[in-house]
Amino acid sequence: MYAGGQARDAKDVESAVRAYGAAPGGTAMMKSEQKAAEEAMASGIYVTWQSPDERECCRIQSNSSCLCGHALKSHDAPKGGGARLRPPGCSKCGCSRFRYAPTRPEECGQWWLPRRKDFDVKAWRARVRKNPQDYACLNCDQKVSDHEAVFETERARRDAGRPVREAFAPLASTPELQALVLGDEQEDDLEALAASGAISAAAYHRRVASAAALAAPGGAPYAATTVGVAPPPRGRGAYVRRR
Ligand SMILES: [Zn+2]
Ligand SMILES: [Zn+2]
Ligand SMILES: [Zn+2]
Repeated sequence: MYAGGQARDAKDVESAVRAYGAAPGGTAMMKSEQKAAEEAMASGIYVTWQSPDERECCRIQSNSSCLCGHALKSHDAPKGGGARLRPPGCSKCGCSRFRYAPTRPEECGQWWLPRRKDFDVKAWRARVRKNPQDYACLNCDQKVSDHEAVFETERARRDAGRPVREAFAPLASTPELQALVLGDEQEDDLEALAASGAISAAAYHRRVASAAALAAPGGAPYAATTVGVAPPPRGRGAYVRRR
């Protein structure tokens, strides 16, 4: 653990998984962060999105978008030495430093939006890029525009006591939840695991129950609630499970 808690800590994620169910947003967010962790391990450069109080709100990867509209991979390599590298400028436009842009409404706590029939994710992304001050981060509830993309070497993170390598992966502290969210394990695999004794009968039943809950139509307890009537929750409130 480091200051401000680990990005998307397990409790939040577990609530999110329960709340979003099989909705694509939550899983897409976690898979993106998994890719970010893999890229960081391969390159030795760790890119995180930090709040003004230095909470690490998410992990950034090569396909993550910048407020300029271009992916990180369209930006130059980060330069400099010391603890923090300089956020790179864009090779496709005049953008002078990479600034992360959320690409899913769930990242801003707007979990209800994708459920609307007329929801246009491209238009939503364009609005965020134009007015990042109008959107709040799910993790810390502070403005998107007040966040900073931080580029660090593995060594700098080690020195600062921040997690690196496997510990940097999302849900690293809760492997079972990690498998649930990020794994491609199907029920067949669970059968095989149970049959070979790799997991206990109790673990098997727990996982089957979890998978069933995730696969339920609508997935979330929100599905039948008054979407569009209740005031939209923001930030962490969006993660509160209601029954
Ligand atoms: Zn840019
Ligand atoms: Zn650009
Ligand atoms: Zn944040």
